[in-house]
Amino acid sequence: MSLPTVSTEKSAAAINEDRPTPFDVKSVRADFPILNQEAAGKSLVYLDNAATTQKPQSVIDYLNRYYALQNSNIHRGVYRLSEAATEAYEGARHKIQRFINAADHREIVFTRGTTESINLVAETFGKMRVGQGDEVVVTELEHHSNIVPWYLLCREQGAVLRHAPIDDRGDVDLDALEGLITDRTRLIAIAHVSNSLGTVVPIRNVVDIAHGKEVPVVIDGAQALPHLPVDVQDLGCDFYAFSGHKVFGPTGIGALYGRYDLLKEMPPYQGGGSMIQKVTFDEITFADPPTRFEAGTPDIAGAIGFGVAIDYLNALDLEGAFNHEHDLLDYAARTLDEIDGLRIIGTAEHKAGVLSFDLGDIHPHDIGTILDQESIAIRTGHHCAQPVMAHYDIPATARASFAFYNTREDIDRLALGVRKVLDLFR
Ligand code: PMP
Repeated sequence: MSLPTVSTEKSAAAINEDRPTPFDVKSVRADFPILNQEAAGKSLVYLDNAATTQKPQSVIDYLNRYYALQNSNIHRGVYRLSEAATEAYEGARHKIQRFINAADHREIVFTRGTTESINLVAETFGKMRVGQGDEVVVTELEHHSNIVPWYLLCREQGAVLRHAPIDDRGDVDLDALEGLITDRTRLIAIAHVSNSLGTVVPIRNVVDIAHGKEVPVVIDGAQALPHLPVDVQDLGCDFYAFSGHKVFGPTGIGALYGRYDLLKEMPPYQGGGSMIQKVTFDEITFADPPTRFEAGTPDIAGAIGFGVAIDYLNALDLEGAFNHEHDLLDYAARTLDEIDGLRIIGTAEHKAGVLSFDLGDIHPHDIGTILDQESIAIRTGHHCAQPVMAHYDIPATARASFAFYNTREDIDRLALGVRKVLDLFR
């Protein structure tokens, strides 16, 4: 009897065969079963993609097939199931490497997501490089997961956390950022795209400024990967953190890109199985990256499923998808801007994926709850970016965030819903 193997390549090829080009939002929507549902007799309008994206059928099917036919632990088995799972897991690493154009697959470390990737850098590289009296620079734009790990690191090491301000449009003040760099600055951590305002940060400029002063740069790429082509070599960054679930893959999996020469000198993050070369009670030697940073049994299905999501993206007309999304954002900004009493928060020239707004005194949670009755899912709150809220002196915003499967009709429904909210409170 031959053992079943679960091919992840097949699904991509199958998608490729029937994928219409150029980008066709109708056919793309058909790949995402969750979008095809109703609540209270109204079709779902899903505009919370910055929180998490929906999954194409190929990813959902893959996860099922993996557990039905291939489940086994990796790297240790000499039997076929384990070898196939290992091959698929390592294959996913290569897919991610190619997707972000890393120079080497060993520069991709699997993690639980952006949060863990940033914590990994703080706990290893950070502890190695940041000492008493040193400085770490972040910005006012950051998600809490790109502030808290650095705050904790600085507190532990006796270092100082500095932040560059944003202007009222939501752009990072790069002159101020440059002005913050001193001979004690040990690293800069900055988002590529803001999850609360949608600002696209000119990362190459940031890297030029930082590297000009020999300061390494850690990028929070959680919101960039779903909206922009990301090329880590072109960006020149030292680390790039991202999450699978924000790019149509499963939750619980993400990755850290790190320059290999840096990963090589970093101490382990967690101790456990798989990450060692040799263990005695007197001495332990550690495996080379990326294995050194992947202690214990990883989210095997998640990692391979992340790879399947990347297959899906590769099979799309991705440029067309990104253009479509850009058009949606423009259309949403124009449409919502026409509504009396609505203020768009975050008006940077270069934005991606996110439109935050408020309606004067109406609490964003009320906006979200009323929109939910219209079967429109948006996010309301501080979006784990309390310093951004503080900048605008507001407690929260309502945030619509887009993916390429959204449509202008979704935005029309949103605008209609917002008008209903305003009518209710007037
Ligand atoms: N950074 C940004 C900019 C984000 O939007 C998010 C998710 N909201 C994160 C980091 C954290 O990502 P995760 O929860 O997947 O670790």
